[in-house]
Order: sequence, then C-alpha cells, then structure tokens
Amino acid sequence: MIVAPFAAIDETCPAVLPAVVGLFGLALGSFLNVVIARVPAGRSLVYPGSACPGCAAPLAWYDNIPVLSFAMLRGRCRACGMRISWRYPIVEAITAALLSLAYAVFGPSADFLIACVLLPALVVTTAIDLQHQMIPDAVTLPGIPVGLLLNVATGRISWVESAIGILVGGGLFFVIIIASRGGMGGGDLKLGAMLGAFLGWRALLFGLFIAIVLGGVIGALLLLSGRRGRKDPIPFGPFLATGGAMARFWGERAVSWWLGGFGG
Ligand SMILES: [Zn+2]
Repeated sequence: MIVAPFAAIDETCPAVLPAVVGLFGLALGSFLNVVIARVPAGRSLVYPGSACPGCAAPLAWYDNIPVLSFAMLRGRCRACGMRISWRYPIVEAITAALLSLAYAVFGPSADFLIACVLLPALVVTTAIDLQHQMIPDAVTLPGIPVGLLLNVATGRISWVESAIGILVGGGLFFVIIIASRGGMGGGDLKLGAMLGAFLGWRALLFGLFIAIVLGGVIGALLLLSGRRGRKDPIPFGPFLATGGAMARFWGERAVSWWLGGFGG
C-alpha cells in the first residue's frame, strides 16, 4: 500500500523519506529516554524539562541533540562533569535503526504505522526491565487495547486473530507463573498479552519461540561465564521484546513457511 503523496516524494527524491524516518527515530528515542528515566519513578513526562541528575543544571537545546551531544560532551555533563549513561545514545540510535528498518521492510503502509507504535514501546520496556527488573504497566496495559484497535482500524489482521493473541500471550505466562511459583512476574504476562494484541497469535508464537531460544542461550552464557549466579534473576522482558520485534518483521513469513512444511 503506497500512499499517493509519498509515492510522489519518493519519485522526485528517494532519499528524503528514509532520512525523515531516521531523524524522527532519533527524536523519538530522545523522548523515550525521558520515559525510561521518569515512568519507573512516577514522574511527569513534560515537567520539568531535562536536567543533569547530578547537579540539576538544566540542559540547553544544544546539549540535548540525540547521539551528537553525547559524543561532543564525551559522555559528561557540561556543568559538573558527571558521567552521562550510555543508555541515552544507545536508545536513540536503536530507535532510529528500528524505525529505519521498518520503513525499509514495509514502506509507507499500515505495517509501518503499527511498527512505529510497537517498536518504541518494546525499546522502553527493555530498558526499564534491564535497569529496574520490572516491566511498566504504564506501557503494557494501554498497549493491549491499542494493539487490537490498530489492527482493527488498518485491517492488517482480523480482530479475532488479535484477540486470540491476547489470550495466548497472557494465558501462557499465567500458566508459567503458576508452575514456576514466581519465576516470572505479572509484567511478563501483560507484555505477552500486548504482543499478542499487536502481532496476532500466529506471529506471537514465532516471537515466543525466539524469546525462549535467546533467553536460554544468553542465560546459559551468563551462567557459564560466571557473570550471573544460579540464583540471580535474569529478566525475561528483553528477550520477549526482542522476539516480539523480530516477529513484527518476519513472524508472518516464518509461520507460513513452517505451515507450508519448510518448502519454498
Ligand atoms: Zn551535572
């Protein structure tokens, strides 16, 4: 589905739209950093403006340019010299890269629009889970109806497919939580349900498969290298988010390939 005005721009200058998407991704990543820093603390997203957590000096606009400012300041606050977390440029670069990839894969389409909502939500849940070992309800709970409604509004997948996805994603983690007696949290359950809403149950199964394989391999590596002990919790949210993102890109193709008996 190519929308006519986009097609016209693409014909005159094919570099414009990908550049706009990349810059939008950087700016959005900068906003996601605010969400990641403030949502777990229950702070407002709009007020006050960005400031150094060390000396409370407000950030000038030129110290708030995605990736570039971090590089120019060599990762330190201009006023007090405190180290700025690597999380800031990493989140900005990853958000821009994910949206650019989505544009390259989907073009201007419903798939791209949905990816622009889902992928940033997954970046936020991953960063917060890595830092605080919790998945924010403020992202996953609204994500469930938003995912369902976006699919209904764009007709990308049927509401039945999306609703079954919610039940499968939530239900599977419900069973795991009961069976493992707290080995996984309710945050994983709500993230599973949100992914089901966005992906539909078939692509969701592909995402869960990737998440379990990744979690198993990386968990084993962390144990073997001694960086994590047998009793240290390893958050599952980042693996779930990675599996969900990969499912958004390639889930449907992978599922039809499986169902087709691995042929073609
Ligand atoms: Zn400072």
